[in-house]
Amino acid sequence: MKTFLLAAVSLGLFTNLWGADLAAEPVEIYGTYTAGCICNATVLPAQGRGYQVVRLKRQRYFGHPTLISLIEDLGQQVFANDWGILYIGDLSQKTGGPMPNGHASHQNGLDADIMLMGIGLKGDLFLNETQREKFKPQSVLNKTFTDLDLRKWHPRHGEVIRAAASFTRVERIFVHPLIKRALCRQFAGEKWLHKIRPWWGHYQHFHIRLACPGDSPHCVSQPEPPLKTGCGEDLNWWFSDEAQQTFRKKTKGSKTPQKPSLPPQCLKLLGI
Ligand SMILES: [Zn+2]
Repeated sequence: MKTFLLAAVSLGLFTNLWGADLAAEPVEIYGTYTAGCICNATVLPAQGRGYQVVRLKRQRYFGHPTLISLIEDLGQQVFANDWGILYIGDLSQKTGGPMPNGHASHQNGLDADIMLMGIGLKGDLFLNETQREKFKPQSVLNKTFTDLDLRKWHPRHGEVIRAAASFTRVERIFVHPLIKRALCRQFAGEKWLHKIRPWWGHYQHFHIRLACPGDSPHCVSQPEPPLKTGCGEDLNWWFSDEAQQTFRKKTKGSKTPQKPSLPPQCLKLLGI
């Protein structure tokens, strides 16, 4: 046994010298963000410089290695710039797939929710075990949902979202339309704003979505967001009567849309 272990260790060293790790199983994504799964996902460490994962018991801290390193890199930037802390919400489950509650997407290891409430704060921001588990996200909107609450929204939120959008691997970031409007004002005309996609909800967290990685040919991509900043007409629509009606219909839950079907590889992986 000992000899075997020694051999394995030296083999590991040897393979690392050649820049490859023969022991690691390849990561593979199948399907879409809303009907997909991931094989051999990476675990996001529970905390690191500038970030802490909350609600660990949900075990939704798995993702594609690119997503994991991106969160770690963004945490480093938050730490270095004294922007507060990133409380990390849901990524994906161990093998991705549909979640019993909470999201339609987050199924293929490329989505991550980052809470807004730790950003802009000062001091020791690491939570203890109970606080992490009972974490209650805070909204940055006022009570009537008509504007941002400026006691809770800080320009540093804008800085962090801009830093996140500047990673080429990030294809889009979902935020509430009122947050997009604030970003359009804070960073008028900046190119990266096209990645910021207004969507309902997303006033307690922002949602990062990566493009399909090149090494996952079965990952089904979305069209890239249009290149315009999306700060004009497109954004105004979200504040129109038509949009409000759409929103009301959605919250009344008129008809739940049919769930998209999972690719066969996912059915096998998830044991469905
Ligand atoms: Zn999300």
